[in-house]
Amino acid sequence: MTFRSNAYETALSRVAPVLTPPNEKVSDLYGSHIFSDEVMRALLSTEAYTKVSNAIKSGSTIDREVAEEVSAAMRSWAISKGATHYTHWFQPLNGTTAEKHDSFFDLNSEGKAVEKFKGSALVQQEPDASSFPSGGLRATFEARGYTGWDPSSPAFLMDNGAGGKTLCIPSVFISYTGEALDFKAPLLRSLVVLDKAATAVCQLFNREVDKVTPTLGIEQEYFLVDKALYYSRPDLLMSGRTVFGHSPARGQQLDDHYFGSISPRVNAFMVDFEFEALKLGIPVRTRHNEVAPGQFECAPTFEEVNLAIDHNALLMDLMQKVGERHSFQVLFHEKPFAGINGSGKHNNWSLSTNNGINLLAPTTKPKENLRFLTFLLTVVKAVHDHADLLRASIASASNEHRLGANEAPPSIMSVFLGGELTNMLEELVSKGEVTVEKGENFYYKLGISRIPNLQRDNTDRNRTSPFCFTGNKFEYRAVGSSQNSASAMIVLNSIVAHQLMDFKKEMDERLANGEEKKSANVAILKRYYTESKKILFEGNGYSDEWIALAAERGLSNISATYDAVHAYIEEPTIQMFQRVNVLTSRELHARYEIELENYVKKLQIESRVIGDLALNHIVSTVVKYQFKLAQTARALTDLEMIEEAEPIKEIIRDISKHVVVIKRLVKEMTDARKQANVLEDIYEKAKAYGSDVKGYFDEIRYHVDKLELLIDDEDWPLAKYREILFLE
Ligand code: ADP
Ligand code: MG
Repeated sequence: MTFRSNAYETALSRVAPVLTPPNEKVSDLYGSHIFSDEVMRALLSTEAYTKVSNAIKSGSTIDREVAEEVSAAMRSWAISKGATHYTHWFQPLNGTTAEKHDSFFDLNSEGKAVEKFKGSALVQQEPDASSFPSGGLRATFEARGYTGWDPSSPAFLMDNGAGGKTLCIPSVFISYTGEALDFKAPLLRSLVVLDKAATAVCQLFNREVDKVTPTLGIEQEYFLVDKALYYSRPDLLMSGRTVFGHSPARGQQLDDHYFGSISPRVNAFMVDFEFEALKLGIPVRTRHNEVAPGQFECAPTFEEVNLAIDHNALLMDLMQKVGERHSFQVLFHEKPFAGINGSGKHNNWSLSTNNGINLLAPTTKPKENLRFLTFLLTVVKAVHDHADLLRASIASASNEHRLGANEAPPSIMSVFLGGELTNMLEELVSKGEVTVEKGENFYYKLGISRIPNLQRDNTDRNRTSPFCFTGNKFEYRAVGSSQNSASAMIVLNSIVAHQLMDFKKEMDERLANGEEKKSANVAILKRYYTESKKILFEGNGYSDEWIALAAERGLSNISATYDAVHAYIEEPTIQMFQRVNVLTSRELHARYEIELENYVKKLQIESRVIGDLALNHIVSTVVKYQFKLAQTARALTDLEMIEEAEPIKEIIRDISKHVVVIKRLVKEMTDARKQANVLEDIYEKAKAYGSDVKGYFDEIRYHVDKLELLIDDEDWPLAKYREILFLE
């Protein structure tokens, strides 16, 4: 038995575990593992509770005494629920979540055991920062970084698996000099500025609005692979994707997986992690199969952006942990299998006011529709002006397999609005200067008295658009399944805030010049629409025609990560981020470097895995098989069956051809890697990896996949696609 056949048998013999559902109703279970508003209200003094509430709502600071009171309440609550440790939970720039557990247990001055958790420990911690990427922000002699409590995201209890729980405190991670080393710090800054800018614009329409909250619903796609098969594939284990593997006879041609029934084993896993998620206050709602075999999706209800992002990071972590219990490995990689659909993380984004208005929802009231169009076109204009930056925010080694690679969407940023809305906007622009007589209805005359019925039907969606309007929100679909959404949201929030600031400024100027408010508003919107038109596209975003048309329109199509991230350090980006006060030039340069470093590391690993698998698993096995064939051919020849020996010799020759090429290519790839490794400049290095080294990946794969078809199925060392993908 080979490792592969063992693994396959193990996978086949698994049965769906029987779950004992929790006794509580879902509504009682929900949020039971978080230090929620309700818990705080019960455990804190009125004064402390009010101060914390204000900090959450308006970002006011929390003083020392209140911190002491909160930490004491958190400690007793957490310990009563079985927690033994606490940690600041943060999101460093290498795309994972980080935590360092400290015990509540301590010895007092008399050597007596006590449970301790001070206010200062709640507010700030100093993890060993040197192992996290900083892009030069943290000089080596000053390796300090601090994590700081984010009270706007509730602390939660994480099961440690082997008994015991840890109190996790969502935190930002900043350097000694106050610069952001994580995703959360700039995200929080972007939320503040967007609130301010959107509220100011909103007040032109509704004086009573005093807060605007961006909302986010994250649809998470993933693949499930049996643990045994996962461990039998060193490439999955090391790089999260299969670097080799011939497409199975039946891939996704039949389209029978999407919305198909979920197998009992997969269902048990989903139910299990959903219960865990609900305890943590993650509002998971929908679950279904995705297009590809073995692919699934989970979508929580939308929440405030910071919470939605924390919850997504937590959910990914949780799914992996619960997966262990079900012998599943969850693959978040954007393209784990060639020839099979990749995975994304659709970011549904909108703006909501304190009095419950969704600013991206059209209504039947004409006046409100002018507000709707204002926010809609401000977003469109922002995306148009900063398309390259949005592209940079989703650039990564793994998402590169989706954006601009084979069988994948191109890396062109475009916006889909839908036919009806587009027609209406066209009409608005073509109307020219509208003069409104006394007594006439302005909105009626402009044609926005009633926004046409927008299709919110799922079947009528443009699934090929990277950024589409879906009736009452935008869906940023190009974000990669393994990415932290904060990267994309920092950019989106910031560019929209920036554009809203421009809009408000121009309105103020026009009003000061005595222009009428509604006409001034419409004049600006017309211009926004005309200026952003080239980014609007309604057709098939995956077609070759679009690639040609986009080039004609002068839209960027940057498929390489090392080039895409350059937008972070271009002058307009630096200016924009400076104006909205979200990222400094130094922080942007650091992010740029970190992205390039991450890219190099990922490709370095993949390249090594490819070399190792090709030579030590594939070629070595194939040569043994060839020897068997040679013996057979010789035996036939000895029996004077010359003609019969010929086809066997033919196979030997075919195999040899591939082996020779693979050997040569691996050698060349290794040399290319050596050359790349000595490059000092990080851009040059990333480019060398992304073009020279990566250039060998598909070529080597081609020959290995051919060999998969030539040698005896029994001898092939790697689990095949058909074994990995069709989970029952
Ligand atoms: P639809 O089918 O119209 O896209 P869904 O309810 O399936 O509606 O929504 C998909 C995702 O979009 C879900 O995560 C949902 O919570 C989220 N979503 C819905 N409305 C909003 C909104 N106003 N802001 C942000 N996300 C939203
Ligand atoms: Mg979607």
